[in-house]
Amino acid sequence: MPGSLKCEAVVLRSMRFGEADRILHLYTPDRGRVSAIAKGVRRAKSRFGGRLEPYFRLRLVLYQGRSELLTVTAAETLHGYPRLREHAGALDGAARACDAVGRVFDDGDPHRGVYNLLANQLALLDADPARATRANALAFRVKLLLAAGFAPQLAACASCGESDHLAGFSGAAGGVVCSACEASAFALGQEAHDFLVGALGRPLAEAPEAPPRALAQAERAILETLEHHAHLRLRPVG
Ligand SMILES: [Zn+2]
Repeated sequence: MPGSLKCEAVVLRSMRFGEADRILHLYTPDRGRVSAIAKGVRRAKSRFGGRLEPYFRLRLVLYQGRSELLTVTAAETLHGYPRLREHAGALDGAARACDAVGRVFDDGDPHRGVYNLLANQLALLDADPARATRANALAFRVKLLLAAGFAPQLAACASCGESDHLAGFSGAAGGVVCSACEASAFALGQEAHDFLVGALGRPLAEAPEAPPRALAQAERAILETLEHHAHLRLRPVG
């Protein structure tokens, strides 16, 4: 039914469309990922100014007509994260976070926790662009898995329940596996295991650090979990 909807949103992507319009991919707290068109936004006198750009957090009024595509009728900036935009590493971190959210969740699959996590990540990168580390990017992804309901089992073997001799990780089994069950697994060392547990359990701002080898193993665990549950492959965090 046609009508207007007020919501907060983070701009995940912004694509040129037609002569002067943009198509936006947005993530909202109550509707999850939605797409909207902003008409005339690329004209010099557009009332939207430059705020319908990636990584802006906005308060929007969206008109829903008969089509799936919503229309932006009003936009107010809640946060533009200007410092993040001056730092290549932080900008890349923001791009990867928004890309991951846009790909892990389909339209009409709302998770308020994901919206809060994404806003938190953008605020952290803006407050201190030097936080844009590989460990931060991986901690964000681990928390995204948790919000999506795909968090890997880390406390006991995901195949047999054994809590000792946890030596590997299997995306197919859904978490860590013991030495007796590791046929389809890859080796996951103690430091990588500790990193995943810490990243899941602590706030993003207090996510743990780990040596490169452990982060590589943690990244593989996240990739295999997403491949197994969501059949998608995210860009490496670099
Ligand atoms: Zn086992």
